[in-house]
Amino acid sequence: MPQQVPDHLPARLQHFIDGRFVDSIDGETFDVLNPTTNEVYISAASGKRTDIDLAVAAAKRAFADGSWPRMLPRRRSRILHRIADLVESQDQRLARLETWDTGLPITQALGQAQRAAENFRFFADLVVGQADDAYKVPGRQVNYVNRKPKGVAGLITPWNTPFMLESWKLAPALATGNTVVLKPAEFTPLSASLWAGIFREAGVPDGVFNLVNGLGETAGDALVKHPDVPLISFTGESRTGQIIFGNAAPFLKGLSMELGGKSPAIVFADADLEAALDATVFGVFSLNGERCTAGSRILVERAVYDDFVTAYAERARNVVVGDPGDPRTEVGALVHPEHYDKVMSYVEIGKREARLIAGGGRPAGLPPELAHGNYVAPTVFADVKPDARIFQEEIFGPVVAITPFDSEEEALTLANGVKYGLAAYIWTNDLRRAHNFAHDVDAGMVWLNSNNVRDLRTPFGGVKASGLGHEGGYRSIDFYSDSQAVHITLDDSHSPRFGRGPGAATSFRTDK
Ligand code: NAD
Repeated sequence: MPQQVPDHLPARLQHFIDGRFVDSIDGETFDVLNPTTNEVYISAASGKRTDIDLAVAAAKRAFADGSWPRMLPRRRSRILHRIADLVESQDQRLARLETWDTGLPITQALGQAQRAAENFRFFADLVVGQADDAYKVPGRQVNYVNRKPKGVAGLITPWNTPFMLESWKLAPALATGNTVVLKPAEFTPLSASLWAGIFREAGVPDGVFNLVNGLGETAGDALVKHPDVPLISFTGESRTGQIIFGNAAPFLKGLSMELGGKSPAIVFADADLEAALDATVFGVFSLNGERCTAGSRILVERAVYDDFVTAYAERARNVVVGDPGDPRTEVGALVHPEHYDKVMSYVEIGKREARLIAGGGRPAGLPPELAHGNYVAPTVFADVKPDARIFQEEIFGPVVAITPFDSEEEALTLANGVKYGLAAYIWTNDLRRAHNFAHDVDAGMVWLNSNNVRDLRTPFGGVKASGLGHEGGYRSIDFYSDSQAVHITLDDSHSPRFGRGPGAATSFRTDK
């Protein structure tokens, strides 16, 4: 059975500005495709500079005159918890819509919807429990930190797990009292429009959340260059990050960038190999491989290399590819034909560069109704050389490169030998080696003997070409707010008395 069109789809996707759904000023739209058929299932308003101007103006008014930035944290927190409740209460529906829009397997989309709710709960609690620094020099001075929202936050998000990634920025930006303009990815605009209804029902005032759909080069660009938007939180490709960095520079905007990755999973011979196998298969094939932290390079110690590669290829061949709406599906359809073409081109490059041991094209045996979807069989290349393009470049699909190593030093050189530095997964039972390797590997986040399970309090971000700055926990609060230092003198002013020479007789003090 092909996936059913979900109930209650709107006729078209609009912007949401100042509490109202609106079309683009110029009436232009773009088509949105269903990844399993590549048929247009909806059109979305295509925002331009004028639409961004309206959204920013609404957000600016809500920030300057509205209740949201002035609300007691406890009240704002209650609204954020209501948002989390609303997301949780309709998680099945949200997951169905996300699956429809993105091609992500339904069981994984459900997990992402629940994680989105958790993001709101986490920041709702954090702003209430927030402690800020205060310092005292006895008898002289007290200093404290005034935590203030920054204004209109520009949020630009990618198409992989869009609902969850939007929550990741919306929750801390709103929790700290900012107003926002969200520009979601053009491949997957559906989930962003769902936030509008959820926020309204939860009691977020008009103008606090604004959404403009559109292309990166038009709507996204206008948001980045808008003088009334002091900060941009961006998640997407490293190349786009560079462009945004340049465009934001003349305005000296605050920037947070979560960018691409080519993360290594390093498997030492002394590891629990069954656990490492489970985690490394899941690590690259979950979320269709469209995952920034995917362990897409697996480095395996020579002593167990052949056995590991054989077992890995067998698992990959057995991964269930199919209708993303079917709960048995493990890999669904890639998001868009453009992305499918990119991933397939890397599969062809890989065939010239390395030894193909699983997959390598479209999966066999797809039912006729899925024949035009963006399906790629889980693909495994072995004996991949470190200068191969499939070792160096982010593919962002269900494709993995496996490479042997002979020593810890070689493993480290291989792990660090790419331009990215987002995550690393280390598999070993040698405690000392695990911690030393974690210290030396170029990665913003390291997991020891674990797949990607993240505590929301920890920093999230990458080094090298994988990002700029860290969000997560109180670091997000830091990014979305100003820490104004207030200094209070407790005794007489200590200013040197410039200009108190013989010519200046006037003084407010009676003693001199
Ligand atoms: P992308 O860079 O093509 O687009 C991301 C967003 O930026 C979209 O909304 C797009 O419209 C917008 N955009 C594009 N050009 C722009 C411009 N000139 N000015 C302003 N906005 C512009 O990325 P994508 O293909 O949507 O997402 C996949 C990428 O995101 C991968 O590289 C992946 O690793 C990365 N990613 C990183 C993280 C992380 O946390 N590090 C998380 C998820 C995805």
